[in-house]
Amino acid sequence: MNETLLQQQIYTDKVKNFTLGQQKTYKIQTFGCQMNENDSEKIAGLFEEMGYLESSDNAIPDIVLFNTCCVRENAEQKVFGHLGVLKKQKEQKSDMVIILSGCMMQQAGTLDQIKKSYRHADIVYGTNKSHLLPLYLYTYLSTGDKQFFTEETGQEIIEGLPIKRESSIKAYVPIMFGCNNYCSYCVVPYVRGRERSRSTHDIINEINYLVNQGVKEVTLLGQNVNSYNSEVDFADLLYLIDKLCDIKRIRFMTSHPKDISLKLIKAISEIDKVCNHLHLPMQAGSTKVLREMNRKYSKEQYIDIINNAKKTIPNVGLSTDIIVGFPGESDIDFDDTLEVISTCQFDFAYTFLYSKRRGTKAALRDDQISKEDKSIRFNKLVTLQNSITLQKNISCEGNIEKVLVEGLSKTNKAVLTGRDEANKIVNFIGDKQLIGQIINVKIIKGKTWHLEGEIV
Ligand code: SF4
Repeated sequence: MNETLLQQQIYTDKVKNFTLGQQKTYKIQTFGCQMNENDSEKIAGLFEEMGYLESSDNAIPDIVLFNTCCVRENAEQKVFGHLGVLKKQKEQKSDMVIILSGCMMQQAGTLDQIKKSYRHADIVYGTNKSHLLPLYLYTYLSTGDKQFFTEETGQEIIEGLPIKRESSIKAYVPIMFGCNNYCSYCVVPYVRGRERSRSTHDIINEINYLVNQGVKEVTLLGQNVNSYNSEVDFADLLYLIDKLCDIKRIRFMTSHPKDISLKLIKAISEIDKVCNHLHLPMQAGSTKVLREMNRKYSKEQYIDIINNAKKTIPNVGLSTDIIVGFPGESDIDFDDTLEVISTCQFDFAYTFLYSKRRGTKAALRDDQISKEDKSIRFNKLVTLQNSITLQKNISCEGNIEKVLVEGLSKTNKAVLTGRDEANKIVNFIGDKQLIGQIINVKIIKGKTWHLEGEIV
């Protein structure tokens, strides 16, 4: 155990002693991306080590932690909304501890706003500091002094934190942190710091540990997984995991188009364990907008990558992210986006309205697009993509897909649900003993949001 973790172990024990004889509870609410979800699993692991239990749905917990996101304006507004509601709960339970962590806290100006308008927050810390939670919590509990730590201090990767995973079948494995790309609309490089890659050795060890725990699928995470750069590059990391780990399935996200190499596309096609799925954020279809976004590829280059992936990876599932209404986006630029969508035929697209992010170049532009224009374009885009998604799902009818059975359907407990290699949701009738297994399912009906199938 390294020195930082040893120190935190001391504070973990101090918190435990402090609350001895009382069963304290915690509740974590996560906003944002898979990286935040994985951070929250580690935060849950730390709470459990300190003797806290996850609170049941209706009870008011002793600790509430919001792990926040600031990538889009509405994620930020949600946090402030929830924080407002907590004020009432804290009036009923004055010893409740309110903790705010994650990207939003790292953003310039947020801490001042919290100190001024949300004085019921007790502990505030930014990214890269979760491992210090036992110290912050113990200091707050023993002194009553508020703990605010959002200044940028070090980018060290801390290995060996306890973790309480959400699923026993699938697991997130971060392989790199931060981003060097500075897309002109994005705050991530400012709040998550520069790119750092985990050692290949630590990643392999973690996956082998997960395999021993019964995990069937890992998703390798990073803001730009394909710029992974440690003992090996990303494509070679996939080959090594294939060789050294008995994991059944490998997924990864998110990839940047500028770093998609032919070697990587070949690796996806050659390694059976790597799912035939590529999530490749396009963001916009106009080369002019892409240049202003600082994405470092053109419309034509993006289409070439997609064509190459389709040619090389059999039955590849394709998904993308698109931002509508970037400053200066004209009707002609937007038509380019629609054209690329039609050309690429994505299985799925995550679509977002552009929102100004403090501190980014795009936020300073005076040619912002009106709300009305953004929403007209957004609706056009969603209508087009939904019809493509439906057609692509209908074209799966009759196929036999390998499905990792993840659990019972949320809406019908008689139905099992899982995902095929292309990451499509597949629902079918079956025995719940199949949960955790990869089975063959024949697709009998393609719908917009899922496929229906029957076990072969
Ligand atoms: S690549 Fe661009 S959009 Fe992705 S995290 Fe980095 S700056 Fe943000």
